[in-house]
Amino acid sequence: MKIAVDGPAGAGKSTIARLIAERLGLRYLDTGAMYRAITLEALRRGVDTNDEAALMRVATSVDLNISFQGSSGNLVYLDEEDVTELIRQPNVTAHVSAVSSHKKVREFIVALQEQIGKQGSIVMDGRDIGTVVMPDADWKFFLEATVEERARRRKIELEAQGVPVDLSELQEQIRQRDHRDSTRDNSPLRKAKDAILVDTTSLSISEVVHRLLSLIKEDSSDVQVFRCRH
Ligand code: C5P
Repeated sequence: MKIAVDGPAGAGKSTIARLIAERLGLRYLDTGAMYRAITLEALRRGVDTNDEAALMRVATSVDLNISFQGSSGNLVYLDEEDVTELIRQPNVTAHVSAVSSHKKVREFIVALQEQIGKQGSIVMDGRDIGTVVMPDADWKFFLEATVEERARRRKIELEAQGVPVDLSELQEQIRQRDHRDSTRDNSPLRKAKDAILVDTTSLSISEVVHRLLSLIKEDSSDVQVFRCRH
């Protein structure tokens, strides 16, 4: 079974996709982590994020590895260094949209994601999973929430890590990232025509997980009934 979970920053994709994967016993891939890892390495090397050729030299010269940790999600390694936490730092978040907008960078990362997708059942979350990476997914969900709610959630997350933040600044950063991700030429953030839209603004994580799982399970039980009759 292949499940695509797309949507803008802070709509709850990663948490929800990971929980669904855990409940269904599937692998889970956070595709944003791959763009973040390349961004981290580019920043470390002082590479200009507008320079596609230089970014490609970074992407092709570093060994990027993702390990699947069941309910704990993914661990991300760059040349065997665990960068799972480092790729979440604000500096990486601020530059990742610029890095991910380059056609060649996307082709490189999407090819890796397609390869992982072909290795078996999986839940992937990102921006272009239902449209580009797994257009043949069995289930496609597009999660949305208002900018205000997404910023509020992010503020709680950051403050729990001891990072003080200004709510209106956070809203502005989210707006800018949404804009860059959805207006880029190459596989922009977009709802696939056949994706199910879920507005998570007034829903808790467990309510969203429950909604998605009941849709999936309802459908699987229909299939069984159908098969029994034949
Ligand atoms: O999901 P996350 O916020 O970690 O993604 C970081 C960035 O990576 C996004 O803002 C976007 O620019 C890029 N991304 C992408 N395509 C994906 C996943 C993430 O362009 N499938």
